[in-house]
Amino acid sequence: MADNRVVEGRMVTPEKLAELVEGDGVMDAEAIEDADRDCPDCGGDVLSVGYMPTITEFVTGYKCQDCGWRETDR
Ligand SMILES: [Zn+2]
Repeated sequence: MADNRVVEGRMVTPEKLAELVEGDGVMDAEAIEDADRDCPDCGGDVLSVGYMPTITEFVTGYKCQDCGWRETDR
């Protein structure tokens, strides 16, 4: 799948990236995009992914490609 990206040395799907951000399973996830920002912890590249943790909620998650930093727009 072309949507897969490498995060912390592992290839992840949009769903897997959303689960890393959420720390739990998600119902649906959109394509991974490059966020226009750097990681505040290590300066690495940050990816963004829109996902639905529940059927009624849509969240944009951010995850560093190089370290464990993550954030959402909640
Ligand atoms: Zn980082």
